[in-house]
Amino acid sequence: MRKKIIAGNWKMNMTITEAKALCDTLIPISNTDEVDVVFCVPSIDISTVVEKVKGTDISVGAENLYFEDKGAYTGEISADMLVDAGVKYVIMGHSERRGYFHETDADINKKAKKALEKGLTPIICCGESLEQREMGIYFEWIAMQIKAAFQGISAADAAKCVIAYEPIWAIGTGKTATAEQAEEVCGYIRKVIEEVYNKETAEKIRIQYGGSMNSGNCKELLSKPNIDGGLIGGASLKEEFAKIVHYNA
Ligand code: PEP
Repeated sequence: MRKKIIAGNWKMNMTITEAKALCDTLIPISNTDEVDVVFCVPSIDISTVVEKVKGTDISVGAENLYFEDKGAYTGEISADMLVDAGVKYVIMGHSERRGYFHETDADINKKAKKALEKGLTPIICCGESLEQREMGIYFEWIAMQIKAAFQGISAADAAKCVIAYEPIWAIGTGKTATAEQAEEVCGYIRKVIEEVYNKETAEKIRIQYGGSMNSGNCKELLSKPNIDGGLIGGASLKEEFAKIVHYNA
């Protein structure tokens, strides 16, 4: 039985002052051990949020890392820095980073390997554009993204990862994939993992859906057998996030 994982992706929102206030609002209402709850926050907020979640079941995630250990990479953050700061998860391959910052499948693969080496859990994002969906090539596209991300990663390590299926046309648009569309692709991703590794790994890995998930649609999405959680953007910045965490209440 896979434990659900509900992760907020704060993106480039929340000054330290705002992050403190959001934590004061969200932590008391979203702290639970029934699902894994993660706040993925901007680097500058990490120490503050780690301090705030101390003594709760909530974990902190980063929104990016660099795959080198240390050195002359101005502006980048290493896995060791994240671990030392108390981070447990790290998002990679988000469509915004692929699009605006030219993150490639090869980068994502290196980031996933580095994160795993250092004991961080990668949240590996994949998903198709509207054009790819309309052209009917989304299965091939996603299989390619997944195979590239997991290249050279052992089955034991792959099982520890989280995959987030995020159709680009649903991110921040208010246009959610139907539960059937999301389940279809999450089930397909599990088959790809089975093909690359084996059934046991496919059964263990957690696959989230992301794309305008909110308190109104989360229950139906999260009731699907292959959807093991949500990666939540907009709704993670408000009290609504707690309603998603408690989708089953
Ligand atoms: C995201 O950016 O990961 C996301 C799913 O955003 P939103 O929930 O706002 O669509």
